[in-house]
Amino acid sequence: MRAHNFKDLTGQRFMRLVVLWMAEKRGTRRYWVCQCDCGNVTTVCSSDLTCGNTKSCGCLSREKARDRWLTHGLRGTQAYEAYAHIVQRCTNPKDKAYRYYGARGITCEFISFEKFYAEVGAPPGPDYSIDRKDNNLSYQAGNLRWATRQEQMSNTRHNHLLTYNGETKTMAEWARQVGMNRKVLDRRLRLGWTIEEALTAPVRNNRWLTYAGETLTLTDWARKVGLRRNCLEGRLQRGWSPEEALTLPLAPRSPRPS
Ligand SMILES: [Zn+2]
Repeated sequence: MRAHNFKDLTGQRFMRLVVLWMAEKRGTRRYWVCQCDCGNVTTVCSSDLTCGNTKSCGCLSREKARDRWLTHGLRGTQAYEAYAHIVQRCTNPKDKAYRYYGARGITCEFISFEKFYAEVGAPPGPDYSIDRKDNNLSYQAGNLRWATRQEQMSNTRHNHLLTYNGETKTMAEWARQVGMNRKVLDRRLRLGWTIEEALTAPVRNNRWLTYAGETLTLTDWARKVGLRRNCLEGRLQRGWSPEEALTLPLAPRSPRPS
């Protein structure tokens, strides 16, 4: 062994590794026994330590691989799409919704999808999307939840903002744009219509019906009790009382003679 060629690395730290003691020499290479921060002990040669080739016992690359796998495995899922859209509307001035988010100072405080996913996890079902509990606060820890369309709708209505086709406007703006009375739009949403249905279904000159202290249009009653509007209308035309028309189940279909 040529003494001047030998550099003692004992006690030095290289990323996650701390050199414990010198191991055997193999060929021209000097090996060191290192303690990794994760608790593992591993043997690494001098050059791999000093030039940074080896930064851990292998746990570092396993963690990175796991993160990559997580990201890769979840790409295209609801959670990933939700995160991607949040980042867009908070940071990209070309995004249609940017003026309601980024421009208003709403930010995404999760610097990576992994951090976002660690906060919100997977959605409980396909109907869920990310909702901010307090719409004045950003996308930040403690302010996010997976919510159903209905839950979001009530939150949205409370804030008088509706997002449809990537555009967010107040309810009054939407009503004006589609040429509808704002009250009609509000009533449709209250009844659980989707935003699309509420904005696009034609407004009919509708008949009103009062039952059990509630006054709704026939269309809304039909929707509420799960009948087709024509069926409900037909019953009333045949002289059924509102209660009968609304509460009696559909007659079972008699089997057709073949
Ligand atoms: Zn390790």
